[in-house]
Order: sequence, then C-alpha cells, then structure tokens
Amino acid sequence: MTDCLFCKMVAGDISPDTVYEDDEVLAFRDINPQAPTHVLVVPKRHISTINDLNADDAELVGKLYLVAQQVAAKDGIAEEGYRTVMNCNAGAGQSVFHIHLHVLGGRPMRWPPG
Ligand code: 5GP
Ligand code: ZN
Repeated sequence: MTDCLFCKMVAGDISPDTVYEDDEVLAFRDINPQAPTHVLVVPKRHISTINDLNADDAELVGKLYLVAQQVAAKDGIAEEGYRTVMNCNAGAGQSVFHIHLHVLGGRPMRWPPG
C-alpha cells in the first residue's frame, strides 16, 4: 500500500532503525519509545488490523512473536521480562493501520495498562 508508513519502510522508501529483518518480517525501534526497549515487529505484507487476519495468517502472526523473543534476547530483557502489545483500532490506541507487535521492556511494567 503506497500510503502506508510501514509499507514504505518495508519497501525501503523510509529507513527505520532496523533490529531484525527476514523475507516476511521487519522489526525496528519505535520513533517515540515508551520504554528503554521499544521495538515494532511488523509483517512485510500489509494487513490493516487484527480484525483483517484470517486463518492463512496464523503462521505469520506466530512468527511475529518468535521475532519478539529474539529482539528481547538481543536487548538483554528476556529474563527480567517484557511486554508485547498489538493494538486493534483507534479505541485501543492503534494509530498506524498496518499490524505491528510492540515489544516493550527495560523498565517495570504496570498492570492494567491505561
Ligand atoms: P500504534 O499506536 O498504532 O499501536 O503504534 C504505532 C507506533 O508507531 C507508535 O508507537 C509510534 O511512535 C510509532 N511510529 C509512528 N511513526 C513512526 C515512524 O516514522 N518511525 C518509527 N520508527 N515509529 C513510528
Ligand atoms: Zn502497510
């Protein structure tokens, strides 16, 4: 999608601070970090929201978590703990409509989230 920020990153039109990339997934540091580690893990294929997922996407979504696991290990937060969040639609705080898994860590996390 030409008007999608994360598709532009996947296409190389915008260069994020990439921490992981393979043929299906890109992970990069959030421009406005909410924790010492704040990485966004995105599928290279455009999917707007969780509501747009179908059964064929199950493996791809699982892979986002495997990449999150690697990102956490690389940033040294795997053992102390980290949070993964995927917001769905504006009411939950989604502002970029290309699904992405937030990986947050490096500070204590409160519950429930706001
Ligand atoms: P959402 O609010 O959709 O769950 O998360 C979108 C995230 O994208 C936000 O945390 C925001 O800071 C991040 N973001 C927005 N624009 C950019 C950008 O141009 N570069 C990077 N690296 N992150 C961005
Ligand atoms: Zn997109």
